[in-house]
Amino acid sequence: MSGIVGNLNYLKSRIPASVKLIAVSKTRPVTDIVEAYNSGQRRFGENRVQEILDKKDLLPNDVEWHLIGHLQTNKVKIIVPFITMIQSIDSLKLLSIVNSEAFKINRVVDCLLQIHIAHEETKFGFNLKELSDVIESPGFKILNNVRLCGVMGMATYTSDMNQVRREFVNLSECFKILKDKYFIGKIHFNEISMGMSGDYEIAIEEGSTMIRVGSLIFGERK
Ligand SMILES: *Cc1c(COP(=O)(O)O)cnc(C)c1O
Repeated sequence: MSGIVGNLNYLKSRIPASVKLIAVSKTRPVTDIVEAYNSGQRRFGENRVQEILDKKDLLPNDVEWHLIGHLQTNKVKIIVPFITMIQSIDSLKLLSIVNSEAFKINRVVDCLLQIHIAHEETKFGFNLKELSDVIESPGFKILNNVRLCGVMGMATYTSDMNQVRREFVNLSECFKILKDKYFIGKIHFNEISMGMSGDYEIAIEEGSTMIRVGSLIFGERK
């Protein structure tokens, strides 16, 4: 058994069946993805549009691609036809453009709202107030070709696991507030995407429904 398959099996044995595993394959060769695919993995996460384009035609078309990195508006058109989920919606402008490109091809695209939970300037995302403003704005109500499925966030890159836990608690609370206020009858608004290789266990304890794990499956990135 290859390292990748063993790592995947180990990881799956440690997470509840209800938690979805996104195998983060950024920077990895297609051969690594094929190994994971052959062992049953279907959900893969990438943070660059060009990298998904380079890889996707070399892989079976039932691979489910999740975009987890910042999306530039000029790249929306290329990924809307095939992307399974855009986890990194960080502005109303981006959401509107995804909506209009999806409308043109008669698709509804699943999206997560990225929330800024880290104490770092570099991470993209909304805060709760900005998100409430977006959801209450007139432009939001007419977006019929995107389906909001929940929230995504990244914790601070730190060894302080108490801080990481607080940030995940914060994301879970944001999700609950949004759900109760705006998405109460929307059964599809049910995902909290949080947790990576170093913190997925804490994330699951704090309510994650979707973890995004790269290095624990494929090894350290160079
Ligand atoms: C790279 C990345 C991950 C996975 O990181 P690992 O530490 O390798 O598990 C998860 N989420 C996002 C947004 C990423 O960019």
